[in-house]
Order: sequence, then C-alpha cells, then structure tokens
Amino acid sequence: MSSLQEQDPRIFEAIAGERHRELTTLELIASENFVSPAVLEAAGSVMTNKYAEGLPRKRYYGGCEFVDVAETLAIERVTTLFGAEHANVQAHSGASANLAAYLAVSEPGDTLMGMSLAHGGHLTHGHPVSLTGRLWKAVQYGVRPEDGRLDYDALARMAREHRPRLIVAGASAYPRILDFERFAAIAREVGAALVVDMAHIAGLVAAGLHPSPVPHADLVTSTTHKTMRGPRGGFVLARAALAEKLDKTVFPGLQGGPLMHIIAAKAVCFGEALGDGFRAYQRRIVENAAALAGGLVARGFDLVSGGTDNHLMLVDLRARGMTGKAAEEALHRARITVNKNAVPNDPQKPWVTSGIRLGTPALTTRGFGVEEMGLIAGWIARILERPDDLETARAVGCEVLEVSSGFPLFAWEPVLRT
Ligand SMILES: *Cc1c(COP(=O)(O)O)cnc(C)c1O
Repeated sequence: MSSLQEQDPRIFEAIAGERHRELTTLELIASENFVSPAVLEAAGSVMTNKYAEGLPRKRYYGGCEFVDVAETLAIERVTTLFGAEHANVQAHSGASANLAAYLAVSEPGDTLMGMSLAHGGHLTHGHPVSLTGRLWKAVQYGVRPEDGRLDYDALARMAREHRPRLIVAGASAYPRILDFERFAAIAREVGAALVVDMAHIAGLVAAGLHPSPVPHADLVTSTTHKTMRGPRGGFVLARAALAEKLDKTVFPGLQGGPLMHIIAAKAVCFGEALGDGFRAYQRRIVENAAALAGGLVARGFDLVSGGTDNHLMLVDLRARGMTGKAAEEALHRARITVNKNAVPNDPQKPWVTSGIRLGTPALTTRGFGVEEMGLIAGWIARILERPDDLETARAVGCEVLEVSSGFPLFAWEPVLRT
C-alpha cells in the first residue's frame, strides 16, 4: 500500500480514478497531453520542498546547489531548442508568462492589441474579464468571416488606427499557420513591441513544423504542457537586451519562489524535445490532425477555415443546428473528451457555443495513428448524428474502450540525449 493510499485514501482514489479516466477515454482536448514517466517523476520530486527566490547562483536562500543544476539545465536546453538568446523558466503558467512579458515591454494603461477570445485568441490577450483587459487598454482583432483566417491587411489598419504599445500574436483555437514576420512588420511600422504567445504550437515550432517566432518577436511566451508535453507551466524567451527586464518582472515583479520541482520537470521536457524522436512525434501529431480533419470533412462536417495546418481544428456545428455544449456532452457519454469552443462570430453564449475544438497531441502520445483517426471521425459522426441516443453512445463507448485498451498512456518514450 502506498503512503498516500494509507494516509489519504480519498485523494488516492481520486488520482487512481483520473488515471483510469485518462486510459479509458479518448483525449481530444487540443491543449492537453500525457507527460513521460520521467517528467512525472521530476514533477513529483523533493524539489517541491525548496525555496529558491532569485536566479541560479543568485539566490536569496541557501542550499540551492541542486535546484540550481535543474534550473540552469532548463534554461540551457530551452534556449538551444528554440535558438533564443535568453530564457526565463520560472513562470508558473502560460497566463503568468504573458503577464510578465507584457509588463516587461509596456505599462498598465498602454494600448494592447491582441486576438479576441471569441475568434480563437486567449483570455490573457486582452479579454475584459482577464487582468490583461482590465490593466491594458485592449483592442481586439479577429479572423475574416469568409475564410476564418487572419487578415493581415486589416490588422495593419487596426494598428495604424490605435497605435498600440504592444501587439500580441498567438492563439488557442486557430488551426492555421501564423505569419510572425508579417506581425513583426506591422509592429515595427507603428512602434509597438511584439509578444508572440506560442503556448499551443511550441512543440511544432521546436520541431520545425511551424515557423519560429523567435527571430521576429521581442518576447516569446509559452506553456510547457500542451504540444511540448511537459509539466504544467510557462516560460518566456527574450532577446539579450530584454533579459534583465524580463527576469526582474517575473521575480520580484510578479511571483515569489519558483516551483523548483516543476522547473526540474521542464528541464526533462526540454531534454526530451532536444532528443531524437521528438520531431517525428510532432510530425505524427500534425499528420493525425490532418487525417482527423479529413475524416470529419468527408462526413459532412464544417471546419473553421476548412481544415488545419497544425495540431487542432474547430468544428462549426451551426449547420447541424447543434450547440458545442450539446456535442461535448454527447461525446462525453461515448468516452470521447472534447471542449465546446466558440466559432468566429458565434451567436451562442461562451458557455454554450456553436463549436467543438479537437486536437491530436494527447492521442498521438499514446501511439494513435491515422488509421485510428479515421475510426474517431466515424465515431464522432455517429454520435453527433444522434446525440440523444443512449444506445449509440453505449455502443460507441464500447468500441472506444476496446480500441484504446491497445494504447497505453506511456506509449511513446523519447530517446534522450542530455
Ligand atoms: C493555454 C494558453 C495560455 C494559458 O496557459 P495557462 O498555463 O493555462 O495559464 C495562454 N495563451 C495561450 C495562447 C494558450 O493557449
């Protein structure tokens, strides 16, 4: 019996239940993934005990010799991985990374131009309910109604009109390639700083499957837990000139002690991403997304922008007269996990929506391939044709269970080179 099981059986059971859920359902949430056993071990390590305010070799506490090893490796690896001049790996999350980046290049009250949540952006890109929308004067851009893609000419016009101090590029639900060079030209023209938030696509960028923002942006923020397949957390990449400003903004500006166990796990994740096999893994993510999108289009589904270039897609359910909420619930009954998601110009409220977002990083980690993507497209079509039919849900759920039993959580083990 484990010590957790003995001491706190209710939490032990909850964790066991979560593990079982992850194994017996199809995880299609585009922002989720399954970490490697090595990342899990580092994240669950004794480094959680350590206070280490400051930076490696410049700490406010004694006894930092081992956590310094972890943080130094994390910084070295992530700068190598992305070809960046400087990195701060202490941000607790993607949201914290964004706040740090914005504060490093602008002041509250300045104008921030970001992609609206309703069009695929993120809350932290200036939404009114986010601190970023309360502290900054936010102007929000979106996608073209005709094709669901960014219109860079319209963006340039908006920038000329509002003269933002800061332009944020990046998205949570945009299935196409982002043109960072174009964003940088627009920012340069109006004298704005450019922050690129690559939270979703960082793994693709690391693998060279999406153009890198690093040569174009003043600061690049990211999460470590999406396509990167690391622990939950954030990091920020900077040009050398902004390094000190950024570090001081993260600590003491925004945070206290860094989460050293998570930083150790980030180092493991960056090591995996530098290792052999990561590029092929990311390539399979993209191939799987293309296969799933193709399967859905072949079954008559509308995808925003017609398909995908990356790891995710947005299904527009309006033509089927179905809401995202209803679709999410119906698929859940058949062991398929997705999230409802607004489509551009969605007539429904944010907690109802007219779409669902699907992504392939997690299932690719389990070893699912294009053949299984065809099965999944078929299952989704069967369920959404008869969303209220419990017999269909049960039948599909059984097939999901049978197929997924052949794919363990830790199927893909990276080959390390550290
Ligand atoms: C996920 C995400 C974030 C926030 O990350 P958290 O770790 O949840 O705070 C920020 N920006 C984008 C574009 C994201 O997709």
